[in-house]
Amino acid sequence: MVVTRFAPSPNGSLHLGHAYSAIVAHDLAKERGGRFLLRIEDIDGDRSLPDKPDEFREDLAWLGLEWEEVPAQSTRLESYEEVARDLLHRGLLYPCTCTRKEINALKPRMGPDGAIYPGTCKGRSLVMDKPVALRLDSDRAMAELGELFWEDENNGTQIADPRIFGDVVLVRKDAPASYHLAATLDDAADGVTLVTRGQDLFAMTHIHRVLQELLHLPVPHWHHHPILIGDDDQKLAKRRNSPSLADRRAKGEDGRELAERIRRGEFPAGITLASA
Ligand code: GLU
Repeated sequence: MVVTRFAPSPNGSLHLGHAYSAIVAHDLAKERGGRFLLRIEDIDGDRSLPDKPDEFREDLAWLGLEWEEVPAQSTRLESYEEVARDLLHRGLLYPCTCTRKEINALKPRMGPDGAIYPGTCKGRSLVMDKPVALRLDSDRAMAELGELFWEDENNGTQIADPRIFGDVVLVRKDAPASYHLAATLDDAADGVTLVTRGQDLFAMTHIHRVLQELLHLPVPHWHHHPILIGDDDQKLAKRRNSPSLADRRAKGEDGRELAERIRRGEFPAGITLASA
């Protein structure tokens, strides 16, 4: 059975781009007789706003969507810690104390998600006298795994190589997991078979596919959809070019009608550079 999910982070309101993403995931599941899940990705510490999950639920209901909600990430921290310990014991993670400023001072190469970590801390052993981040030793992981692929419904078969990002953070200084580790573990725990999200997150799948293999998790398929763009040809963002769904609701707009307009393709969708 197909299981899709919408996984918003509660650090701001949802806008049209999120509505599009939720509708794509919802409709793909419903068309195929499957399940559509909502997962709140709230491990962002200070950035998680407590009133947002309820706002999101109201937004989705207003759009006419039906979903099953699975536990929020903040309730799963122990499962992330356990997996991080395992990866650390296997020599696949190393501690890093570098700040963003220190990394930028080294004039690093840029990758799909900003600066590529130059590996300053690689080979260090764990000393717990100050908070550290744990990074994936991507060379070591790839040496262990060999060639890996993933299937994307919109983009075909892909060769996974996390090295385009360098050694990414899997455990943050301030949280027991980064987005990569938490989302990969949760998609497996929630039985997601089709990971549906915007094309702007396409490259992240290199990392997630490698984690699945390292952790012997089931391998879903992916459906990265084009993302909506505003009049300024930029990805929609609440602050810049798109009012929030909550504002639209408050003004009395009909959510189901908006959902139909999205389905009819009334809002321009494009591919961002981040997906190239
Ligand atoms: N929580 C992520 C976000 O709000 C979504 C991640 C995903 O769909 O994998 O951007």
